[in-house]
Amino acid sequence: MDEGSRVDILKMYPEKKFCTKCRENKLRNEYYDHPGTADGKSSFCKACMITANNANRAKNKANGSYRNYNQIRDAKKEFFILNAF
Ligand SMILES: [Zn+2]
Repeated sequence: MDEGSRVDILKMYPEKKFCTKCRENKLRNEYYDHPGTADGKSSFCKACMITANNANRAKNKANGSYRNYNQIRDAKKEFFILNAF
């Protein structure tokens, strides 16, 4: 690919941005705003940010931050099982 056609692609898809996590070219509205970056957008797409957030939440859960929530949920599950039979 020569320099000319690369510029043409940038002209054709100025709204696209490469996600460094899933390595996909996605529309710029697929990225959260991030004032600290050169182009004002996060380097991960929204889907990857959500995945990263979920991973963080799972880590917090393992640390006990969500223990209360799990206890309530497990109690509900137990109640359902007990009443299902
Ligand atoms: Zn991504």
